[in-house]
Amino acid sequence: MPTTMPNQTPPSQPIGRFAPSPTGELHLGSLTTALASFCHIKSIGGKWLLRMEDTDTERCDRQFTEQILMDLEALGLHWDGDVIYQSERIDIYNDYLSSYLGPLTYGCQCSRKDLEQYWAQEEISRNHSRASLAALTDQTSLDEQVSPIDQVQPNRQRYPRRCVASDLDRQQHKLRIQLPDYRIGFNDGIQGLQWDNPQQTLGDMVARRQDNMINYILAASSMMVYSRLLISCVVSIFYL
Ligand SMILES: [Zn+2]
Repeated sequence: MPTTMPNQTPPSQPIGRFAPSPTGELHLGSLTTALASFCHIKSIGGKWLLRMEDTDTERCDRQFTEQILMDLEALGLHWDGDVIYQSERIDIYNDYLSSYLGPLTYGCQCSRKDLEQYWAQEEISRNHSRASLAALTDQTSLDEQVSPIDQVQPNRQRYPRRCVASDLDRQQHKLRIQLPDYRIGFNDGIQGLQWDNPQQTLGDMVARRQDNMINYILAASSMMVYSRLLISCVVSIFYL
């Protein structure tokens, strides 16, 4: 009986990228990143792409873009293909937001000041609860009676989902994406297995600002692993 080998798809060529933001000239840190990225991907036969993170039109300047290109060429860091400009890909990101990510998005009207007030109120409530507990147990030292969990400070960087059920107009407000609230594992090439809970660390992130500017996190992830996290909540390796 003849046997046939299963179809085997050859591994795709590895792709690395350097994504400077043209809000200034390259500095030592960004040059180190570029060099490390270039050497790594070239050492495994991959392509090295150059993507300009120029979605922030208020801070980005064309003269910095040109200077960055000249600096990289002068250092022999030649990229493959054409330079990719994020500002020219806005339609692609909006397509992602309205299709794949649509069910996970919601409008948000919270300003930075609103969130500061929210966390300030939370702090007042926490202190009030601790004081009430102290009164009930007739002890004067609060630190001795609260559990270690109560002493953990809330993560103020995390968005507290105030608008998730408000059903605000998505075109008229900033757009947030719901991130998963469970631990996700991935294998870092240097530090090994890493775990994190995106909801507890970040909260629902802003994907598109009220002025329709795409957040760089979404722009940077549209062709990276993190987009899989947003879409399917499964990073390329596995999750718990
Ligand atoms: Zn909000």
